[in-house]
Amino acid sequence: MTGESRIERIYEQVVRRNPGEVEFHQAVKEVIETLGPVLVKHPEYADQKIIERICEPERQIIFRVPWVDDRGEVQIDRGFRVQFNSVLGPYKGGLRFHPSVYLGIIKFLGFEQIFKNALTGMPIGGAKGGSDFDPKNRSDAEVMRFCQSFMTELHRHLGEYTDVPAGDIGVGAREIGYLFGQYKRMTNRYESAVLTGKSPHWGGSLVRREATGYGTVYFVDEMLKARGQSIEGHSCVVSGSGNVAIYAMEKLQRLRGSVIACSDSGGVIYHKSGIDLDLVKRLKEVERRRIAEYAQHHRDAKYIPGGSIWDIPCEIALPCATQNELDEAAARRLVANGCLAVAEGANMPTTPAGVRVFQEAGIAYGPGKAANAGGVATSALEMQQNASRDTWSFEHTEERLQEIMSGIHRNCHEAAEEFGSPGNYVLGANIVGFRRVAEAMLAFGVI
Ligand code: GLU
Repeated sequence: MTGESRIERIYEQVVRRNPGEVEFHQAVKEVIETLGPVLVKHPEYADQKIIERICEPERQIIFRVPWVDDRGEVQIDRGFRVQFNSVLGPYKGGLRFHPSVYLGIIKFLGFEQIFKNALTGMPIGGAKGGSDFDPKNRSDAEVMRFCQSFMTELHRHLGEYTDVPAGDIGVGAREIGYLFGQYKRMTNRYESAVLTGKSPHWGGSLVRREATGYGTVYFVDEMLKARGQSIEGHSCVVSGSGNVAIYAMEKLQRLRGSVIACSDSGGVIYHKSGIDLDLVKRLKEVERRRIAEYAQHHRDAKYIPGGSIWDIPCEIALPCATQNELDEAAARRLVANGCLAVAEGANMPTTPAGVRVFQEAGIAYGPGKAANAGGVATSALEMQQNASRDTWSFEHTEERLQEIMSGIHRNCHEAAEEFGSPGNYVLGANIVGFRRVAEAMLAFGVI
């Protein structure tokens, strides 16, 4: 059987075995459809059914999360942890709290995480978890009670050598604090490295907060450099206004890019003279408000309710909000408006048809599993610091992050050339990540 037809059969089987999990199907397809040439080069991967094994999570945990809201009403949410692959290290990946969460979302994220984590070169396996709990409009006390209930079940599946969660959408420093507190209480162990994204006051790493956004910008910078260009003087739009978007904008501004738009699920802020990042940080990080309020502080800024940020002409576009936020039509508009580079701060934000548009147009396109790997890489640096009971300076940690991102870029770039598709970072990232996981799986035998 040819590599291609084998891969088609594997995909059909994944769809059959995981009905209705469309995001998971999409993530699997996007990875395995690039692996045909690798199977030709390494028939032992096919013999040992490496791809088939990778597509089946090692363990999936689904649990009830009951808690009592401020009005005294009992609420029941659903918790998930999908421990996908642990050949390279303990399961590692964030927790997402968002009403759209169901098993298919967690599986797509966990599957992506395997390859992303492998790409970092660090000793971390792949996992993801979360809940359909909606933290929006919930009080601090409600979020705390939810986190405590969530961890009351999850703690038995975690450990610094077993599974190390972190944040994702809806899970930031506040939630990690409540989760860590409850883990410590349940286990009677101060096991710092069981969670990452902790506050630097009690075991967290400096730069972890900034790392995903900074890393995405380092990646776009590398892609542009490879084409003899740079960020300086280019117009940039960044979707979202959460943790990833904020620090992507910060690094773009430091590298003298001109950031003119950001967004949230309600709409878009277009500010031609440049986004006021201190204001975005205050609104989003401190006051937990909507981005619409930005326009009340800057008369020359325009708020477009329900608008698409991809309508705004720009040279650099960073999707940093959520999956499938950039479709084929949006990709066409970006290309028509002269966009040079797209790098994904979010996980799988571009639809497969959108990706094809970028590839056909020949613009620099960095897929999430490479471009946003700086977050989880810095989580691995946090684990290193915890293991050695040490803390590193901001400068040292950021230097490590920058080295890791340029290493990821170099490896993806080289693999794309090796497999005859220069500049194709999708192919490069999938192949580099997959090979590392596949080699470890071969070494461990059939497990
Ligand atoms: N949720 C982040 C990601 O998508 C970070 C995971 C982590 O730090 O473990 O990679």
